[in-house]
Amino acid sequence: MTPSVATGPRPIAAFDRIGEENAFAVLARAGALAAQGKDIINLGIGQPDFPTPAHIVEAAVRAMRDGHHGYTPSNGIPELREAVADNLANRYNTSVDAESVVIVPGGKVTMFAAILMSGEPGAEILYPDPGFPIYRSMIEFTGATPVPVPIREANDFAFSASETLSLITPATRLLIINSPANPCGGVTPRREMDALVAGLANHPHVAILSDEIYDQMIYDGEQHVSLLSYPEIRDRLILLNGWSKTYAMTGWRLGYAVWPPSFLDAIRKLGVNCWSCVNAPSQFAALEAITGPQDAVHGMMAAFAERREVVVARLNSIPGVSCVTPRGAFYAFPNIQGTGWQAKALANALLEDAGVATIGGPDFGIHGEGYLRISYANSLENIERAIDRIQAFLA
Ligand code: PLP
Repeated sequence: MTPSVATGPRPIAAFDRIGEENAFAVLARAGALAAQGKDIINLGIGQPDFPTPAHIVEAAVRAMRDGHHGYTPSNGIPELREAVADNLANRYNTSVDAESVVIVPGGKVTMFAAILMSGEPGAEILYPDPGFPIYRSMIEFTGATPVPVPIREANDFAFSASETLSLITPATRLLIINSPANPCGGVTPRREMDALVAGLANHPHVAILSDEIYDQMIYDGEQHVSLLSYPEIRDRLILLNGWSKTYAMTGWRLGYAVWPPSFLDAIRKLGVNCWSCVNAPSQFAALEAITGPQDAVHGMMAAFAERREVVVARLNSIPGVSCVTPRGAFYAFPNIQGTGWQAKALANALLEDAGVATIGGPDFGIHGEGYLRISYANSLENIERAIDRIQAFLA
């Protein structure tokens, strides 16, 4: 039984600084309200509403039947690391050594590891704000100083190379870049990436974590610009990616990263000390996902594209709300300043009173005040119903 009053030894102080991801709290609250019989539409959580494609599930089942029940090499099965290296090399017209690819239990694990390896008191880590909340949480956990890089609506929620570079100091250890981005749906164009990489030449002490988990979720025929395609920063680039979003595999806990040689031994040892390896059947599923047919990925993206049009048009028709068209991922980040509401209060009221789960912008950083995150990973019908409710509530 868990005692109701916390007595006894406590975790070290660093654990008082570790944060959370409010999307999970909203998911739990939405579940609790639904269990009370309320009709809740969830536009809060960031996961595709599609099942994992059947041929990928089949590959995992086959692996289990074929006896893949034991440990694998800690950095992943060789055929999967080779396939990831080939896949990246082909998509980004570069070369990738399979030895630098590390398979991990979820994209988040690479983020955790990279920040852990770079953060300590006195170090500064730059991260996008609004941005994925775990960046700041982990930076604070390590005792490093979090330095937010503002992500601005006026810039279509893309990174500004000049603003990012202006925040680098001799104490900067790591720069976190995320494009396409959560929560704003921004995509940083090639000219800004070029300028960023050119400017980084003046700061060779800075490592880069490029979170490209939404790399294939991009609209209007635009091409994703991967930082992997810049040879001049390869010796300090950690590329984060995975299967969760592209292949609707959030619950499988699968991710991969390409690490520079100077970090490779540290991530290998961290894996040995912590997760040993990713569960074997999942790795065979991951192999099928990237080497098998991609029709399901294209089908999901076509659905997201259609929903994006509806979400943006409908949100822009609500008085006091304006919404930039997201260029990637599956999130809209409407500006709600004209409604007179504070963002978190509005998200809360929408959930409790209108039965629509969204996330308040401040859950993604101080620059998120005045915005809501709407995940359109839900059916068109539910999206229409949810926006009807938001509209009625605000009227
Ligand atoms: N990076 C970003 C920007 C994300 O939005 C997410 C998940 O929401 C992740 C990483 C983590 O992905 P995974 O579920 O594979 O750990």
